[in-house]
Amino acid sequence: MISESIKRIEELLNELEQNAETADKACELRMEVANVYSKLRYGDSSKRDGKVIIDKNNVEELFEDAVKNNEFKVFYQPKVNLKTYEPNGAEALCRWIHDDQVISPDSFIPILEQSSRIEKLDFYMLEHVCMDMRRWLDEGRNVVQISVNLSRINVGQDRLLERIVEIVDKYRIPHSYIQIELTETSTELGFDELKDLVLGLRDVGISTAVDDFGTGYSSLKLISDLPWNVLKIDKSLLHEAEREGSSEHLMLCHIISMVRDLGMECVVEGVETPEDVKLLKDNNCFVAQGFYFDRPISAEYFEQLLESVNQQKRMR
Ligand code: C2E
Ligand code: MG
Ligand code: MG
Repeated sequence: MISESIKRIEELLNELEQNAETADKACELRMEVANVYSKLRYGDSSKRDGKVIIDKNNVEELFEDAVKNNEFKVFYQPKVNLKTYEPNGAEALCRWIHDDQVISPDSFIPILEQSSRIEKLDFYMLEHVCMDMRRWLDEGRNVVQISVNLSRINVGQDRLLERIVEIVDKYRIPHSYIQIELTETSTELGFDELKDLVLGLRDVGISTAVDDFGTGYSSLKLISDLPWNVLKIDKSLLHEAEREGSSEHLMLCHIISMVRDLGMECVVEGVETPEDVKLLKDNNCFVAQGFYFDRPISAEYFEQLLESVNQQKRMR
C-alpha cells in the first residue's frame, strides 16, 4: 500500500523534474519522501541517538572489556549528493553501547586520546567497517565509500600506513571504498609524519579528508602542502554562516570555491535546514552531511536506507 503511494508520488515528482522551474523543488521533495518512507519502515533514527555522558575513570576502567565484548558499534551517517539527493558515501561514527545506553563519542574519545587506547579504538572501527563492507559486497549490495576517523594522536605511530592497508586488504576491500578523515590542528607538530601518511594513502589509492575545517585556527598551508581528496567544513562555521552578510558567510562561500579550484571535493557537515541546503547549492557545493538528511544510524538501518534508495531507483 505504502509502495503504491510512493510509486504515484515518484511519477508526480518525475513530471515536476521535467520542468526547469520546479526541478529543484522536486529534488527537495524527493529527499523528504525518502526520509518519510524510511521512517515509516524503519522508525525514527533521532530516537536512537541519545547523548549519554560517562566519566573519565569509568572510561579507563571499562575500555578493555568493552572492546572484548564488542560494545563499540559503528554507526553510519550518510553524505548526500545534493544533485540527486542520494547518499554517495557515509562517515563511520563510534557509539559505545553500555548497559543498554548509547554513550556519545564526545565523552570518551578525548579521554582515549590521552593514552594509546585511541589507537586500539580507531583500528577496531576500521576493522569493523571493513567487516561490514565485506558482507555487503558478498551479499551483492550497493556499496558506497565509507570514511573512518583516525585521531591525529596516531600520526607518527610505527607502521601506521602499513597497518591500515593490511586491515583493508585482509577483507579484500577495494581501496577506493575507504576514506580516512584526519582533523587538522594549527600546530606544525608532526607535520612531516602527517605528510608521509597522506602521501602514502594517496599512493595506495585510499582517499583522505581534512576533518573539522573552520574550527580553531585553520591552516591554509595544511591544505596547500598536502594532496587531500576532500575538505570537510565544520558545522560551527556553517551555522555561523547562516546569517547572510556575516563574515563567516563570506568565508564559507570563498572556502567552497577555493576548495573546488584546488581540485578537492568539499563536504559540509551539520546541515540541518532547507536554508543550509540552499546556501550550499547556491555556492556550488553538492555534498552535505547532517541531521536534515539523517543522523548516524546503525549498520542495519544504513543497509536498509541504501536498499530503499535502490528500490526507488528501480521504480523510476
Ligand atoms: P566528526 O568526525 O566531525 O563527526 C561529525 C559529528 O557531527 C558527529 O558527532 C555527528 O553526529 C555530528 N553531526 C552530524 N550532523 C550534524 C548536524 O546536522 N547537527 C549537529 N549538531 N551535529 C551533527 P559524533 O558522532 O557525536 O562524533 C563527535 C566526534 O567524535 C567526531 O566528530 C569525531 O571527531 C569523534 N569520533 C567519532 N567516532 C570516532 C572514531 O571512531 N575515532 C575517532 N578518532 N574519533 C571519532
Ligand atoms: Mg569526522
Ligand atoms: Mg567533523
